[in-house]
Amino acid sequence: MTRAVEALVAALGADAVLTSEEELRQFRDPYSFPGWDDLTASAAVLPSSVEEVQAVVRIAHEHGVPLWTHSQGRNNAYGGPAPRLRGSVIVSLRRMNRVLEVNEELAYALVEPGVSFFDLYEHLRAGGYRLWSSMPDLGWGSVVGNTLEYGWGYTPNGDHASSQCGLEVVLANGDVLRTGMGAIDGGRAWQAHKRGLGPSADGLFMQSSLGIVTKMGVWLMPEPECYVPCRLTLRHESDLEALVDTLRPLVLDRTIPNVPLIGHALGAGAWGATRADWYQGDGPLPDEVVERIMRERGVGRWNVRFALYGYEAVVDAQLELVERAFGRIPGAEVVGKRIAGAEVADHAANLAERAQAGIPGLEMLEMLNWWGGEGGHLDFSPVAPLTGKDAVSLVRLLRPLVEAAGLDYGPAFIVTPRSLVHICPIMYDTTNERQVRAAYDLYPVLVRETAKAGFGLYRAHLQFMDLVAEQYDWGGHALRRLNEKLKDALDPKGILSPGKQGVWPASLREARR
Ligand code: ADP
Repeated sequence: MTRAVEALVAALGADAVLTSEEELRQFRDPYSFPGWDDLTASAAVLPSSVEEVQAVVRIAHEHGVPLWTHSQGRNNAYGGPAPRLRGSVIVSLRRMNRVLEVNEELAYALVEPGVSFFDLYEHLRAGGYRLWSSMPDLGWGSVVGNTLEYGWGYTPNGDHASSQCGLEVVLANGDVLRTGMGAIDGGRAWQAHKRGLGPSADGLFMQSSLGIVTKMGVWLMPEPECYVPCRLTLRHESDLEALVDTLRPLVLDRTIPNVPLIGHALGAGAWGATRADWYQGDGPLPDEVVERIMRERGVGRWNVRFALYGYEAVVDAQLELVERAFGRIPGAEVVGKRIAGAEVADHAANLAERAQAGIPGLEMLEMLNWWGGEGGHLDFSPVAPLTGKDAVSLVRLLRPLVEAAGLDYGPAFIVTPRSLVHICPIMYDTTNERQVRAAYDLYPVLVRETAKAGFGLYRAHLQFMDLVAEQYDWGGHALRRLNEKLKDALDPKGILSPGKQGVWPASLREARR
């Protein structure tokens, strides 16, 4: 390690290599208990170019040093910037933060990995491009890191992994390749067409430890004439099944074209308030407290945000169809707000209105302090088919388990045309070791119970990657065996992100089982 660090300093310069405890503190999981140090790095390196990334990989290869790559490293609730394997050298791509190209005609951009959602948004505005990017609720993460983790945004391009087009990747041996049409030297359609000839390699580099992504194409949407962020509220806990079954045909036939988000009333209570502001007792929040949150925050028991985009006449017709469909559920209310697409920055008034127009912010952090102290959370995110029955069965399964651990259950669901992604933030006060421990003890229980019911997680926290991967067991873990074969072939020394998504290099495999 000492020789590797010396070589990194010689190749990249001393200011690109961080080794002191103080400098490395920024790369720990911000949501773990401050005294825990099982996921710490031994050094961090900040390359500024593809050539420097190649140099880092070659040095790591020569010295047999494990690397852990992140882009912005804001993957909070899943481990943030921290490495899976203690003592790894973090490769932080924050310095590679240029938007390399914007094509207004074809609505795409080509970005480096350190470009944050804020950076891309500002770049589009500064250039006067009439294009909207998609972003998650927090804008500080990178477009590339979020996309590679299968993250979500809320415009019609909100399925970020699907809106990716063309990667440039540094492999473990230092080679660089481009996927799809980028594999042609001088290829003109790299960001315009997803596939090239032969097997599509892009998926190999997502949630993976097979390469370091140094460029990525991202599809944008043309600024619509009219934008209508909508709010749908339902009054009763028991409305969830009808809500999902009514929503499904509307997203499936694209009457609702974006990624709707269903949230429970409890989430609304967390905005700028602590649990103690609502209730000082122990145990789950009594129903009358949830009712009070609903009254005081002006929300329903279930709340859906979604949006419509396009020509005014089309959007009007879509809204009418949505209103008619939900008119069949007693007490359901739909409210839409018309905003001219060109004036969205001045008129989008809150997080929902901004997020669905791709305007980045950090307001969501205001929800963190539910338990007081220093708020943190683990995100537990199983995927289910988009049916009311499946949504209800997840809630029935998870609520009692979370509440039995002395924690609160306030789920949200990301809605795609055929599936829903259950986002259950397990909130805690990171300074309260007993409570953090309760959350960490709960997570594996939830993983096992949901797997038994046939639901897998779409993403995993560092501490539980092995366990989550273990549940993908069809055919005697046939998929994991393929992943391991690819790992051995492409990264025989196992230097790239060992343990990422439960895939360990051959040298560590037995020890980790
Ligand atoms: P964000 O930028 O949204 O904060 P991160 O940078 O934390 O996201 O990245 C999330 C995860 O995605 C990382 O932990 C890592 O496993 C993977 N990852 C991020 N960037 C890259 C990259 N450029 N190449 C390969 N894997 C990456």
